[in-house]
Amino acid sequence: MPKDLTLPFDLAQMQKIIDKYPTPFHIYDEKGIRDNVRRFLKAFAWAPEFKEYFAVKATPNPYILKLLKEEGLGVDCSSLAELILAEKVGFRGEDIMLTSNETPVSEFAKALELGAVLNLDDITHIAYLEKNLSLPKTISFRYNPGSLRSGNSIIGNPTEAKYGLTKEQIFQALALMRDKGCEKFGLHTMVASNELNESYFVETAVMMFNLVKEVKEKLDITISFVNFGGGIGIPYRPEQEPVNLEQLGEDIHQAYDEIITKGGLAPLTLCMECGRMITGPYGYLVTTAIHKKDIYKHYIGVDASMANLMRPGMYGAYHHLTVLGKENAPHDHVYDVVGSLCENCDKFAVDRSLPEIETGDILVIHDTGAHGHAMGFNYNGKLRSAEILLHEDGTTDLIRRAETLDDLFATLDFSKL
Ligand SMILES: *Cc1c(COP(=O)(O)O)cnc(C)c1O
Repeated sequence: MPKDLTLPFDLAQMQKIIDKYPTPFHIYDEKGIRDNVRRFLKAFAWAPEFKEYFAVKATPNPYILKLLKEEGLGVDCSSLAELILAEKVGFRGEDIMLTSNETPVSEFAKALELGAVLNLDDITHIAYLEKNLSLPKTISFRYNPGSLRSGNSIIGNPTEAKYGLTKEQIFQALALMRDKGCEKFGLHTMVASNELNESYFVETAVMMFNLVKEVKEKLDITISFVNFGGGIGIPYRPEQEPVNLEQLGEDIHQAYDEIITKGGLAPLTLCMECGRMITGPYGYLVTTAIHKKDIYKHYIGVDASMANLMRPGMYGAYHHLTVLGKENAPHDHVYDVVGSLCENCDKFAVDRSLPEIETGDILVIHDTGAHGHAMGFNYNGKLRSAEILLHEDGTTDLIRRAETLDDLFATLDFSKL
């Protein structure tokens, strides 16, 4: 179905929502998220144990995290704030993974308090933990394969990436932790971001399975879990295809049988920490056209800005755009759809063929469910928008109110002027 026609709401329904909550806002489709998670977990149902740790940074809203918890997901946290969010939602113990870097003591302390799995980004973090806190009984290390792997175009070359341990350090770190009484070991890697090529993730799985085997052979340490990271992409453009999850599950299954089962290394728990593919396609930024301007080009000015969605301005990313109620109208006008920031990169669409737009039209920007609201900022004094959860029965909940000027000025003391 064309992307324009896959929306979980129509113009009449959206008008009612807007009567209650003014634009701009992000709205999330609960049913879409739940169905997607179920499909993802089903693709890995063959595995002795499979755990998806949702990357909180993608959509750090407790109501979204709550529904993911209900579907059986854990959370991957990368900061103190994310650990606290996880705690508030009720996540505890090994349902929380801390995958951070340049980690301060306060974050490690909170993670230890919650019983989270620490996924260490460097071998020196063992001594750092020992000196400042204590060593846990379960530990995971992030592997950076360096020149053994070419990262994808978005995450870049692993030798240039600040993350993880070298292969040699992985062996040293595991041996060290064993000597210090650690009982359960895991390995993690993340070498791609927004990757749509399924075979890339199969290669990652094979790489990690072989590493598990090598660790067993060289150190006689049994790895209990491997984490392939996040990075599964979504089809932002209408002509792109989503990753075939069922195929991905089957291909990783085959590699598992070949390397892990045949190698006598089973059972091995498989983990992922996807953010984007879990919620990304099920969030929409809803905004109203408030100005029309014709100079060298034709501009539509909307009430949202780059403060609500950074990706187009930051990466030149494509986000599909629907003019609500005009889905089937001829796309015979070419516009730049722009926000109000004093930055010329504040454009949601450039040279986009769209139906004729009038002020007052409702525009829906697709695929904002991950790394959307979360990346918002306050430059130019712009306020971050509300977030709304759309339930299957068409009712809505405000799951985050919009910022106010009082929020913006809360850190200023005007009385000293
Ligand atoms: C950002 C991040 C993720 C999530 O990435 P997605 O592209 O949203 O799947 C997972 N793990 C780590 C360590 C990350 O930094």
